[in-house]
Amino acid sequence: MIIQCITGGSFLTNCYIIADEESKEGIIIDPGAQLSEVLEEIKNLDLKIDKIVNTHAHIDHASGVQEAKDALGAKFYLHPKEKPVLDILPESALRFPEFSGVEVPEIDEFVEQGDIVEIGKYKAEVLHVPGHTWGSICLVIDGHIISGDTLFAGSVGRVDLTGGTSMEELVGSINRKLMVYPPESKVYPGHGPVTTIEIEKRSNPFLGGGTILF
Ligand SMILES: [Zn+2]
Ligand SMILES: [Zn+2]
Repeated sequence: MIIQCITGGSFLTNCYIIADEESKEGIIIDPGAQLSEVLEEIKNLDLKIDKIVNTHAHIDHASGVQEAKDALGAKFYLHPKEKPVLDILPESALRFPEFSGVEVPEIDEFVEQGDIVEIGKYKAEVLHVPGHTWGSICLVIDGHIISGDTLFAGSVGRVDLTGGTSMEELVGSINRKLMVYPPESKVYPGHGPVTTIEIEKRSNPFLGGGTILF
């Protein structure tokens, strides 16, 4: 399996390219300000991208979706509860001028808990993990977890941005939906470096790990 991470924009947001190394069929996850580099990498790897799947619709993860749809002819997948967050992209762009001119893309397919997104011979399972936003999802492909802004290395997502619910719901989602995977499962967050379920279980202070020294 091909997993490429391209980071970009002032929020240092990670866009992932995931593909079947044989058939070259693939998807991209969360295209934002780094889209031109993502498109170049897709060309270099000679991939056929037919799906754009978003973990959620905050502007740093979704500003490149319309342009990606146009460039790749790919369908856009989002959780239905995330549509209100997507719909206010132009308002969000007023606060973050680097995204000015952003367009609200049309959603082609809704994805919900338990749905399967095909990536060539691989299958990505959709987990609904409300907390960071109403309709945040994670994708699990062959023991690799794409965690969006739900779980980071040593931290968790904020709940005070558009669509955010509560820390209780966020931590509950992580414990019920993510921490059940084998310890060696790799976690690929929307910002920052790759981690594993085991490392987060042991040391993530938001999940009861680590030692509080005061
Ligand atoms: Zn976010
Ligand atoms: Zn983010």
